[in-house]
Amino acid sequence: MDMWYKMAGNHNSGRKKDPMSEYSRMGKKTLYIRQTKNLKGEWTDDPLFQWFKRIHGSLWQKQLRTWMRMDVERIKQKNYWQCGCPNQGVQGNYIPNRMPKCPTCGSWKNELAKLRYE
Ligand SMILES: [Zn+2]
Repeated sequence: MDMWYKMAGNHNSGRKKDPMSEYSRMGKKTLYIRQTKNLKGEWTDDPLFQWFKRIHGSLWQKQLRTWMRMDVERIKQKNYWQCGCPNQGVQGNYIPNRMPKCPTCGSWKNELAKLRYE
């Protein structure tokens, strides 16, 4: 566990909280899970979600974040290329594959694109 993890929120809970620092924190997002009524008339979470939490325990949110990162990396690899612009901001220097040339810096996706479209 890194040093920058510290307890936040309810200090009596004893639960590990999310990493926080002066320039970084965890923002709460809402995830809706389907619920159905059981025979006692109580709302219960989708069995799939119950399994997910049972499998991953307290790390289930971390698992979701890991998948999100892997999903985004896969899509960036598959559908984008990087031009010569500075890699800044959310979009960075990632150009969609449908664009063979960067309109800003003028770099080409690859040699073939240059031959075909120049
Ligand atoms: Zn560029």
